Amino acid sequence: MRQGFFNRQLIEDTKPFEARLSCASCGLYRGVLSPRMEPYGGFKLGILNIGEGPGETEDSRNKQWQGRVGSQLKSMYGRNRIDLFEDCLNINSVNCRPPENRKPEDHEISCCHSRVKKVIEENRPKLIMLFGDAAVRSIIGNRWKKQLKTISRWRGYVIPDRYYNCWIGITFHPSFVLRGEEEVATIVNEDMKRALSYLNKPFPKFEDETKFVRIVDNLDFLKNLRSPFAFDFETTGLKPHHPDHEIICMSICDGPDRVFVFRMRSEFVREIRELLESERYHKIAQNMKFEDTWSMVKLGAKVRNWLWDPMLASHVLDNREDTTGLKFQVYVNFGLNDYDSEIEHYLESIDPKNGNSFNRIRELISTKSGLHKLLIYCGLDSFFEFRLSEVQRIGFSFGR
Ligand code: SF4
Repeated sequence: MRQGFFNRQLIEDTKPFEARLSCASCGLYRGVLSPRMEPYGGFKLGILNIGEGPGETEDSRNKQWQGRVGSQLKSMYGRNRIDLFEDCLNINSVNCRPPENRKPEDHEISCCHSRVKKVIEENRPKLIMLFGDAAVRSIIGNRWKKQLKTISRWRGYVIPDRYYNCWIGITFHPSFVLRGEEEVATIVNEDMKRALSYLNKPFPKFEDETKFVRIVDNLDFLKNLRSPFAFDFETTGLKPHHPDHEIICMSICDGPDRVFVFRMRSEFVREIRELLESERYHKIAQNMKFEDTWSMVKLGAKVRNWLWDPMLASHVLDNREDTTGLKFQVYVNFGLNDYDSEIEHYLESIDPKNGNSFNRIRELISTKSGLHKLLIYCGLDSFFEFRLSEVQRIGFSFGR
């Protein structure tokens, strides 16, 4: 695993999985017929299915997917000419049966996570299928520092996950299909079909994107700037109208391998204003009303030739709640989880009820390393905004 901005701490399990997260602490093994159920399946196609937990029939046979729900999944795979037990390996988010087949609790999922992770690392699947909320909590929840929300937010994506180095497909648990709603069956079948179409696609080779970010202290790069470009500000707050608010830094990305970032200075304002007002360049920004307003109020620039707002486009492409944020889109499209973790809290308003409130960005940049982190982060934002706009405009995509 590479070091640097995307250090292991950023993309590995980040919840407090410590020694107390053990079978003893979980306790589900007590009183079941098949404690600590081992993974099962021939794994011929390199598919790893992760479900919720063993039910009564599974517990009595010491094997996953044995009851009605298992038959349902077997037939859904069968429609894709895949044998559940020959072609896949199967495990659950918790590997002892919860009493009365209740849903596993977060603590139990956390306790069992190291067991699931070990199975992934030892078998190196090409595709992990997450069936249901518990599976999402086990595999994504450990690394997703923001609110995970429900399975409805995640289902349908096929994520090129950098940590596990494989595709992750997500859909509802097959027990949901058994409730008889035709729409659910259609959704699950389509999600599975889509995920399975990635099985033989080569996994993308991701580079450390921080190497594309160039921190500069002058605007000479503008002479060779290409159109379109994405730009991003890091500021002292959400709204620019308080006289003490300022743009701390700006990044500009004009290609898939080139992004410039600089600390904003008063002597740059005229040139930046001319750039933003120039008809020659098309502009891209995530949630462009933010950049548009700050440009107007703090730089006196009326931005011309807006081309694309990846946030609006995300909403048009998929109008589910909580899917339009840049960090979510970066994970589901480019497999990078939470690259803002180290500085996110510095960017939150001190008084969330006050739109003119200040954040703690000045505290962050009071140290050299803090300023460096902010500049890299700002560069990555416009880098991913540019890349995401390409995915949306040109249709190229790893996972959607
Ligand atoms: S569910 Fe997992 S963590 Fe809990 S007791 Fe069973 S094997 Fe151990």
